[in-house]
Amino acid sequence: MFNTFLKLLYSAIIFSLLTLLTQVGGIIFLLCKFFFKIMKVKWKFVHKSLIFVCMYLLLTFTLIPFLASKLGRVPLPYFATTDVPLKPLNIGFGLLNRNYVKPELRNLLIETAQQMQKKHPETIICYLDACFPFWNKFPLLPHLSHNDGKKADLAFCYADVATNEAINDSAPAWFGYGIFEDPKKGESNKNMECKQNGHWQYDFTKYVGFSLSKPMKLDAPRTKTLLTLLTNQSKIGMILIEPHLKNRMKLSSAKIRFQGCHSVRHDDHIHIQLY
Ligand SMILES: [Zn+2]
Repeated sequence: MFNTFLKLLYSAIIFSLLTLLTQVGGIIFLLCKFFFKIMKVKWKFVHKSLIFVCMYLLLTFTLIPFLASKLGRVPLPYFATTDVPLKPLNIGFGLLNRNYVKPELRNLLIETAQQMQKKHPETIICYLDACFPFWNKFPLLPHLSHNDGKKADLAFCYADVATNEAINDSAPAWFGYGIFEDPKKGESNKNMECKQNGHWQYDFTKYVGFSLSKPMKLDAPRTKTLLTLLTNQSKIGMILIEPHLKNRMKLSSAKIRFQGCHSVRHDDHIHIQLY
């Protein structure tokens, strides 16, 4: 009896974690459990895990994009090519099915990446979290608003600290979030203001912000070009970055806004959304 309860609890925890992380992983986990049950074979844990991973990857690259496209969302590219210089910062965003958007958002991102490459050759736009494949109002945690296929996060452009050379397809934080472009002396400091006003969560992404790469700094000219191209896209309704970066890069578009203290810092990435 107690063993059955523990098994159920274990399954519920795995199902919840996979659903929160990937949306579809929990359902695939249940499908695999059903498969193991009807096969009536004493599988070892490692074999069960391998079958789950294979099934997850197979569905991630076949059935899920097919069904999602029927329901109005498409995956952003998994790899950059010469024609489409757009990719995830790391492949995890694609493998976890966190790269789905409405077709118009994918098209304008591809167009922006192509325009960007004309102005700054070799630049590849790196995206971070976008949305899940299915269901409006299903949030992609921890981003509560990434729930309708209309939102995506992008990495800034960076340069090598030592040589000043452009870094074309990477960012300082391995995970994309949590290594900030802090305000300089005299600049607006929303992090300080928000935390002083009790919004403790404002910089919590610092706990996941670790680096596996060489030291980088914000490449302000290229990031400004990227932001300008994005603001020129008529279907983009709002772009979120910290006010000190908007001022530092002398950007004036009303589309570029401060997200408010209830959210988290946006001086480690760009948030874009459709109207
Ligand atoms: Zn976002």
